[in-house]
Amino acid sequence: MSLSVKYLLDFIPKAGEFLEVVDGVYLLRMPLPMQLDHINLWLLRDHNDWVLVDTGLFFPESVAVWKKLAQDLIAPGQLKRIVVTHFHPDHVGMAGWLADTWGAELIMTRDEWLQGRLRQLDVTPETQSSEVDFFVKAGLFKRDDPQNQTYASRYQEQTSAIPRVFRRIESGDTIDINGEDWEVITGGGHSPEHACLYSNKRDILISGDQLLPRITSIISVFGAEPDSNPLSVYYASLKNLRQLPEDTIVLPAHGLPFERLRERVDYILAHHDERLELLINNLESGKRAVDLLGTLFDRELDFFQSTFATGETIAHLNYLIHQGQVMREENEKGEWVYTRT
Ligand SMILES: [Zn+2]
Repeated sequence: MSLSVKYLLDFIPKAGEFLEVVDGVYLLRMPLPMQLDHINLWLLRDHNDWVLVDTGLFFPESVAVWKKLAQDLIAPGQLKRIVVTHFHPDHVGMAGWLADTWGAELIMTRDEWLQGRLRQLDVTPETQSSEVDFFVKAGLFKRDDPQNQTYASRYQEQTSAIPRVFRRIESGDTIDINGEDWEVITGGGHSPEHACLYSNKRDILISGDQLLPRITSIISVFGAEPDSNPLSVYYASLKNLRQLPEDTIVLPAHGLPFERLRERVDYILAHHDERLELLINNLESGKRAVDLLGTLFDRELDFFQSTFATGETIAHLNYLIHQGQVMREENEKGEWVYTRT
């Protein structure tokens, strides 16, 4: 190993800078124009070439950083493969631009590629209105409120055109990088078929958003699949990752690399269990999802944060419905009302 994780804590690269974290594995911090102000990309040496894991959001600062890297680090033709963990815009956003610039091949799971392509192409008013309808049922939006029109997906503007041709990876596949096998470990809950990469030889996990230090991954229900149970899928995925060796070094998409993977998994499981408990305790009488935001989130939420928080609250409620602990009815306004069974 080039660096211990402890050593790394003192040397966080700034946005746009890179640092070799372990032999042949570079952390590249990319800026994000939001509260979560960075994403970690991982650049892996592959003989004389590079393999990139995740790409950054498609916006002018990312483009500027990548243009500089093209001068300083990655010569024309040297970026041959781009692995994208999942379809979220901060991960896949620059993939099309990078594939065009370097002629690199895009590698993704099929569900993530499909979801990304779908989000770029499906921008009809009807799609928007089904998302709005979901938030009306949650009690967050009022039916026929003109304000609802301002709720629009920004996916298209935050992503360059995702390549039409890609290489599919599935759970259990291995990707050879620099003579080292990286196993593909897929999981759901945060996104449909998120890919992590694991080197058995060195016990390194590139975890994407599936396992993060400090912040927890967003586990949310969306209007397209209002009855889904992503929290249950996420639990299964975390328990799967928990089987990796305890001394695994985790290289996450946000925050700093960390060790003690099982401790972190256990903390996240307990965190969600606690939220389920909080909800159950507040559902003696019927409540809408919007009435429960204050129970789960103790901070001020702006408009967009409220939509995310609502999706997360419904993820926990749907989990409880699937467990038979909560039931959902509809009130006269067509809003969902949840009660303890
Ligand atoms: Zn994500």
